Formats: sequence, structure tokens, C-alpha cells
Amino acid sequence: MVVIGGGHAGMCAALTARQQGAHVVLLEKAPRHMRGGNTRHTRNLRTQHIKSTATMTGAYTVDEYFHDIMQVTAGNTNETLARLVVDESEALMQWLVAQGVDFQPSLSGTLNLDRTNAFFLGGGCALLNALYLRAESLGIEIFYDTEVTHLAIHEHTCQTLLGNHNNESFELHPGAVVAACGGFQANGDWMRQIWGPAADNFLIRGTPYNQGQVLKNLLDQGAQPVGDPKQCHAVAIDARAPKFDGGIVTRLDCVCFSVVVNRQAQRFYDEGEDFWPKRYAIWGRLVAQQTDQIAYAIFDSKVVNNFMPSIYPPLRADTLGELAQQTNLPEHQLQRTIEEFNQAVTSGTYDPTVLDDCSTQDLLPTKSHWALPIDKPPFMAYPLKPGITFTYLGVSVDHLARVMFTDGKHARNLFAAGEIMAGNILGQGYCAGTGMTIGGVFGRIAGYQATCHTP
Ligand SMILES: Cc1cc2nc3c(=O)[nH]c(=O)nc-3n(C[C@H](O)[C@H](O)[C@H](O)COP(=O)(O)OP(=O)(O)OC[C@H]3O[C@@H](n4cnc5c(N)ncnc54)[C@H](O)[C@@H]3O)c2cc1C
Repeated sequence: MVVIGGGHAGMCAALTARQQGAHVVLLEKAPRHMRGGNTRHTRNLRTQHIKSTATMTGAYTVDEYFHDIMQVTAGNTNETLARLVVDESEALMQWLVAQGVDFQPSLSGTLNLDRTNAFFLGGGCALLNALYLRAESLGIEIFYDTEVTHLAIHEHTCQTLLGNHNNESFELHPGAVVAACGGFQANGDWMRQIWGPAADNFLIRGTPYNQGQVLKNLLDQGAQPVGDPKQCHAVAIDARAPKFDGGIVTRLDCVCFSVVVNRQAQRFYDEGEDFWPKRYAIWGRLVAQQTDQIAYAIFDSKVVNNFMPSIYPPLRADTLGELAQQTNLPEHQLQRTIEEFNQAVTSGTYDPTVLDDCSTQDLLPTKSHWALPIDKPPFMAYPLKPGITFTYLGVSVDHLARVMFTDGKHARNLFAAGEIMAGNILGQGYCAGTGMTIGGVFGRIAGYQATCHTP
């Protein structure tokens, strides 16, 4: 069998299939030193557990996990598949440990994930190194610099696979195929078709290799699409980040403790609507809707230690006027926005660890929590741009990870796992750590099912 893509989903599929006795070939578009796509940047996965573990505090029940998915997606999810992900999440973690992946307690920061998420010791690269080591020791054939360009599908069966290896074309006739080659966020042309010229101002947080060739190829051949093309996991990142692969260190967790203004120095959304883990993934899209796809998080010295900073230092000034000059914001309007905000803040007990009662009154948009007047210099700002993590448009799958077609039939030997099908569960929104859980759970299912079709 052939696995396309060597990220978390692909590795889980390849290892599971190999452990069932299948002959497995893994095709990875990136060179060896860039292998593993977006997975390289990850830190954790979300898993249910009925009691504290060595790395997680307290219980996180299946019901709570499922409720969280329902809440962040506003019910825009395939409930059967979402339940499957939740139910299988703990077994996934145990299986990863058996493959040589180590976990550690939660890292500190504003996401407060110590109860719900298991962190990889050494991050996503260490996880990948462990999985690749295991794959090599089991005899999985791995080809780097190998891009799949076309799957020839006839009567719901993939008969031929075309691609390039080191710029030479090749053709395979696999017994089964697992497509685990991510979304299309790194494909500028495709993003522009959906977002227009605004897409040119988007930064891609992860790999430049996820360009959606296989996804497009499958959709063109009648695979049932799932997910709105405009939906994606998009966070607000430091506008000074590189176009690709800026990773986790360019993310900004200061929004809920700031006032966020657009190019016109006007607020546009409730910065303190909910805990940051439940809101961080909407801010990329919110910034994408602003002029020039840029915004500025403004805060003062009172809150500077309440969040994980970006790798770049904040812009800093003794007066709001100077800060306006540094950020090129209209000075008069910035002063006015902050003044109106400060006047609207009601007194309460400020507490970053709970949904506190510090909010605004008679101000639109409201700031629901963690509203403190911005009045203690130095004043600081971070420039924000949309950082696209992964797109949600994908192929529809069933509970066996089989790709579904528009005629209602499922593929006979073609399976999908990871970002390429995450939109089945993530119709919108995001819960930190679910991407890796979806990829791992469906990777294992796909690998197991594909084995049935592999000599
Ligand atoms: C900065 C950042 C931080 C993140 N942190 C977390 C986190 O802590 N927890 C979490 O759950 N999720 C996190 N995510 C999301 C997470 O990365 C994904 O949900 C998960 O890694 C998806 O795995 P995947 O295998 O589907 O995709 P990927 O890991 O992206 O792997 C896809 C692979 O396919 C290859 N490929 C692409 N096209 C082709 C082709 N045509 N032919 C052959 N190969 C191809 C790519 O080179 C790549 O190696 C993060 C993402 C980013 C960008």
C-alpha cells in the first residue's frame, strides 16, 4: 500500500498498516530535513482520560471533550466521526507511547491545557523522529522529495498513482492508498481564488509543501467535498513573521488582555469573549476581514506578563501618540478609541485565570472579560496578521476513513486521514490539540482498513 504524506496522520497510517503485515511505501514531498509537514510545529494532542495521568491533571471525560467540539464548531460537525475521535483519543496516546513517543506535562502559557492536552516531550519534531525511527526499523520504504500529482480513479478504486521523485516522473499501481497530505493553505493561487487579493497578505504558519494537489485531484474526480473553502484554522500571528514555517513562536496570545484595533484604529470584536483556547483560532479570520489584513493589539505595562510573547519584542512607547506613530495608526482616532474604552470599563476583580467580571458597559463591541483601562505606560503594541494553520475544505470520509464520492458510494481502496479530511469534524472553530488527534485516530483507522486491500 502507499501512504501519501509523512506527517502525523501518514506516519500513524503507515505504522499501523505495517504492524498488520502490509508492505508499505511512504511518499513524502519534502526533503528529509523538512519531513513531517505541519506536524513538525505541534506541541500536544487533546485526549480524554477518566483520571489524572502522569502528564495531565484531573479527568477530561468523553462527554466534556465531545461537548467542547460541539461548542467550538457550533454543531457544524459530523457527530459520528467526532465521537469516534473522542473515544479513540486515549488509545491513540497509549499507542504513540508504544511507538517510542514521550510525553511531558503541559507547558505554561495562556492556553491552560494542563488537564486536556498531552504535550510531546521535545515537540512535534521529536514525535516525528520517534515515528520515523520506528518506521525505518519496521521496514517501511520511505521516499523523500516525492510528490504525488495524480490518482487515477475508476469505479471508486484507485488504480494508478502518478508522481515525481527528484523531478523524475513515476507510476505505481498500489493495492490501497492513504491520502494524508494536508490541506491547501500553502497554495497561493488556490487561496487567492477563495479570498481574493487579501490572500497575498496571509502568512502560512506551517509547511510550504501542503498545496492540495491530491485534494484537488480527488475533488475533480468526484470525491465528496466537505467543509466551506473559506473555513480554516487561522490565528493572529506577529505580522513580522516569515511567509512560511514561522511556527509557534510567532503566535500571539495577548489578544484577550488587549484592545485590538484595525488600520482605522477602531475596535472590531470582543477581545475577551471567552478563554483564549476557545477563541484563538477565530482571530486570524477576523484580522483577514480588516483593511490590508492587519490589526494591532494595544496594551499597557499592567498586563505584559499575563501572556506568552511572540519571538519579536512588542512596539513600545511612553505615550499613545508615540505608539500611534510607530504603528502608523491615525493618532487622534487611536486616542479616542482607547479613551472610550477606558471610560466604559466597569470595576471588577481582574483575574486572567477565570472568566472574570472586568467588562465594558455601553460600548460596541463589548469586551466581556479582562477589561482594564489602558493607562499605565509604557504602552505597547503587536502588529497582527492572519496566520493560516490549515484549511478545512477536504474530502468526506466515513467511519472507516474511506473517501466518499458524490454518488453516495465509498472508495474501495482509497482512504484519507489528517488535515485533508479534518473538515468532517471541524466545520468551523477549533479546540487546541484536536488536529493531531483527528490525524492520529483517522491515520490508524485508515492504515488498518487499507491493510485489508494490500497483498
Ligand atoms: C505552527 C503550528 C502549530 C500547531 N500545533 C498543533 C498542536 O500543538 N496540536 C495539534 O493538535 N495541532 C497542531 N497544529 C495542527 C497540526 O499540525 C495538524 O493538525 C496535524 O499535524 C496534521 O497532520 P497531517 O499529517 O494531516 O499533516 P502534515 O503534518 O502537514 O503532513 C502532511 C504531509 O504531506 C506532505 N505532502 C503534501 N502534499 C504532498 C504530495 N502531493 N505528495 C506527497 N506528499 C505531500 C507534506 O510534505 C507533509 O509532510 C499546528 C499546526 C501548525 C502550523
